[in-house]
Amino acid sequence: MSATCIFCRIVAEEVPAAFVHKDDDLVAFRDLSPQAPCHVLVIPRKHVGSLNDAGGEDTLLLGKMLAAAKAIAQREGIGAGYRIVTNCGASAGQSVFHLHLHLLGGRPMSWPPG
Ligand code: 5GP
Ligand code: ZN
Repeated sequence: MSATCIFCRIVAEEVPAAFVHKDDDLVAFRDLSPQAPCHVLVIPRKHVGSLNDAGGEDTLLLGKMLAAAKAIAQREGIGAGYRIVTNCGASAGQSVFHLHLHLLGGRPMSWPPG
């Protein structure tokens, strides 16, 4: 837990969020500024700054994040086509330094991303 980290404060339920999933390891909630009709953030309860800060002991946790994103996509009705993104580092667009997967869907998406 980092008192200065907004996502740690969401995990602690000190800051409200629209949760779509909670378990012992992860929570998922709707992005405040959605970039698609469905835009959910999947985050570990544990504070990990970014994918670069995930260690070997976090391998199972990373797999659980992907599996949760897939299950949420099915539940949200976007299972036929969705995108999962993690921005790693400020130059890649990371603005919150608590590891998260963006789950995006519900509209056509182009490639490459900006
Ligand atoms: P990043 O830019 O780090 O890849 O993604 C951070 C995401 O967190 C952004 O899409 C932003 O809209 C979202 N976000 C930032 N602060 C909050 C918040 O307090 N609540 C929610 N639900 N989303 C947030
Ligand atoms: Zn945090």
